[in-house]
This record gives sequence, C-alpha cells and structure tokens, in this order.
Amino acid sequence: MDPPSRKVAQETKGFMPDDEAQALYDAGVLGSRSGPIVEIGSYCGLSTLYLGSAAKAVGTTVYTIDHHRGSEEHQPGEKHHDPELYDARAERFDTLPALLRTIAQGRLCATVAPLIGLSEDLAGSWSLPLGMVFIDGGHSERTAQADYEGWAPHIVRGGLLAIHDVFEDPAEGGRPPYNVLRRALAGGAFVAHSRSGSLRVLKRLE
Ligand code: SAH
Ligand code: MG
Repeated sequence: MDPPSRKVAQETKGFMPDDEAQALYDAGVLGSRSGPIVEIGSYCGLSTLYLGSAAKAVGTTVYTIDHHRGSEEHQPGEKHHDPELYDARAERFDTLPALLRTIAQGRLCATVAPLIGLSEDLAGSWSLPLGMVFIDGGHSERTAQADYEGWAPHIVRGGLLAIHDVFEDPAEGGRPPYNVLRRALAGGAFVAHSRSGSLRVLKRLE
C-alpha cells in the first residue's frame, strides 16, 4: 500500500507540504506497528489521508480529533480563514463535511474514525494504548501543552510522537509546538527519530 493518490491529496484543503506528508506517512507505517494512531487536528483531512493510508497498510485505526470549528487563525477576518468552509446558516466555521468527503474519497471509511470534540476532553477519558500520536491542533501555548500532557502518556514504548509546525527560529512561526518538542525531549521518555520541514517525530523509550 502506498501513500494516498496524488489526485485526492491535491483536492484536499490543508496545511501539509508534500515532503512533510511523505514523512508523516513513513512515521505512520512505523507507528501503526505498535498500535492505533491518534491525530489531533483533522481540519479537512489532508494529514489524515497520509496517516490513514499508513494505518490501512498495517491494519490498524486512526482516530482523528477535531471540534471542527477551526483554530483562532481560521476564524472570519483572520489570516487562514477560508470562506468556503464557513457555514452561513449555522454562522460558524465547519470542516466536518470536508473531512467526511476526504475519508470517503481516500477509501478510508474502515480505517479512520473521526472523533468530534475538544482534544483535552477526549484525552481525559481515553484508555487505549497508542502506537502514534500526531499533534497538529490548536497552536496556543495552553492548547499545545494540554495536547502533549493529555496524549503523550498513552503512547506505548517504541511508539511515536509527531509534532507539526515546529520552528526553531521565532521569525518562522509560533513558539508553542517548539516548546512542546523541547519539553518532550527534556523529559527523557522520548528521543528524536526523524524530521522533515516543520514535522518532528520522536520515539518513546520508556
Ligand atoms: N492536520 C491538518 C491541519 C489541522 S489545523 C492538515 O494537515 O491539514 C488545526 C485544527 O485543530 C483545526 O481544524 C481546529 O479546529 C483544530 N483544533 C484546535 N484546537 C482544538 C482543540 N482544543 N480540540 C480539538 N480540535 C482543535
Ligand atoms: Mg499544522
């Protein structure tokens, strides 16, 4: 099984360049061998396509989490707002219909389970050991740290923690994902496994 078809990926809105997507797919294949994957931040399912194709190849599941109302930067008037994803009747941003379309087009209905809600709420009631966690949700310090605190403990030994939008240089992007990376490495439980662009993959040692 290969990464998702170029056509489906090209038709999917999202924030993941090709090289990072390929690295995410490779990490997904490795992580899936240790257990299911949790993705925080589905948006319209671009990264989900890659994690889902990887999990399908190995025979496991991706749980992809989002409240689907968008982060701060997706709201009307903000830098990454997309008017096509605004539901005028409900008067809110809504990426769930796009995610469901992407899952179907990627033939991942039996592999990807969308979970609709707040990451921190779902983390509090989670008990399934995980082969991989991909943190790509809210980019505030509070949200990014809560994602790490809530989800990293569920990763099994040998499993992977992937973090997106990690920028060493503050001129390139916000601090919270980088701060989470440093915290994970400083804690001693994770070591660096791979990197591609702003995607960092760590492996759990203990
Ligand atoms: N992984 C996607 C991009 C995710 S954008 C891609 O590859 O294209 C970040 C997403 O995180 C947004 O859709 C937003 O709604 C979601 N999000 C932000 N904070 C969240 C939270 N606390 N709980 C659940 N989802 C959250
Ligand atoms: Mg991202």
